[in-house]
Amino acid sequence: MFNKKTIEDIDVKNKKVLVRVDYNVPLDENLNITDDTRIILSLPTINYLIENEAKIILMSHLGRPKGVPEDRYRLDPVAKRLSELIGKEVKKFDEIYSDEIKDYIDNKMNYGEIVMLENLRFDPREKANDSEFSKLLASLADVYVNDAFGAAHRAHASVEGITHYLPAVAGFLMKKEVEVLTSLLESPKRPFLTILGGAKVSDKIKVIENLLGKVDSLILGGGMSYTFLKARGYGVGKSICEDDQIDFAKDMLALARKNNVNLLLPVDIVVAKEFDSEADKKMVSVQSIPEDWMGMDIGDRSIELFKEEISRANTIFWNGPLGVFEWDNFSKGTKSIATAIAESGAVTVAGGGDTIAALKKYNLFSKFTHVSSGGGASMELLEGKELPGIASLMDK
Ligand code: AMP
Repeated sequence: MFNKKTIEDIDVKNKKVLVRVDYNVPLDENLNITDDTRIILSLPTINYLIENEAKIILMSHLGRPKGVPEDRYRLDPVAKRLSELIGKEVKKFDEIYSDEIKDYIDNKMNYGEIVMLENLRFDPREKANDSEFSKLLASLADVYVNDAFGAAHRAHASVEGITHYLPAVAGFLMKKEVEVLTSLLESPKRPFLTILGGAKVSDKIKVIENLLGKVDSLILGGGMSYTFLKARGYGVGKSICEDDQIDFAKDMLALARKNNVNLLLPVDIVVAKEFDSEADKKMVSVQSIPEDWMGMDIGDRSIELFKEEISRANTIFWNGPLGVFEWDNFSKGTKSIATAIAESGAVTVAGGGDTIAALKKYNLFSKFTHVSSGGGASMELLEGKELPGIASLMDK
């Protein structure tokens, strides 16, 4: 349940509405946007504000500038792409705030029009959650809308600080993300299966712990599974393994048993001689990973085992590739599991940058019920944490 006020609970007509969006999109070396998903996901909120004749003031961060303007992180390509998508001019300012910008919004801009401020992270006060900076941003508008789910876990000035100075509500994307992800925790259609992969256990400690109290089964694959395999007593050769997390892994194996969670690890592995796309490879069972080889993907028997579990589930959450999927020689596990999830008929939710890259690579993106736009934010929500960008919005 989403218990925060949204854009539909507040009067936006003929109001100046400041919208925090997440336009942190990937750019190539010529500053072309290589993936505009995040811009597309903001359109329902923007179109609603156009229809309701608000003055729309957009603000976002992009990349990791160090608190000063850097041309390669300017928002011009984003404004251009948004303008193409909505068929309407988006006036882009080269600063975050100035008296001219305020004058333009107050006196020259028409209702139903859109402007965009410059990259918020050109000012160090954004990340510092500086109250004077929040006030300055707030002075541009009557209402604040947060639609930047991908930034909701950051207590930054445009995300948290600003909510102290304007009526603050959620946009449509924010609402949808929170509803889908909290329903996984609160009321999943059972059996509920989570599949976690990716490189490191240490990134996912809290998620694993929290989900072990919620799921019926948990599959662990990818780089992180070797720490768990070692905790179960297998030799893992040169595979990536976090020795300082082995005790945690043992605790999680015990917690799974206590909670009656079916925790599945790979039963066979594609190992390689070295970390290289063309390295010699072979498939071995987990009992016999050679000492000087490393695990790069799950093997065929693991794929079949995991597919059976997928076919039994009615809700599936997936985060993290099951092998080094960027290289074709080690992508079979990730591709097979992603396809099986997409075709399962279950409620399917995915999140995380690499997971989304895999879904795009295999043309499966649109086959999932929901793909979260926020990697870090979705994981923190599934850890059971309160996110500052959500908590600070007005209650219903
Ligand atoms: P993460 O950012 O934690 O989701 O990790 C994603 C990365 O984990 C991807 O770049 C994968 O190539 C990598 N990965 C998955 N499986 C393995 C593995 N067995 N060995 C090394 N890296 C892996």
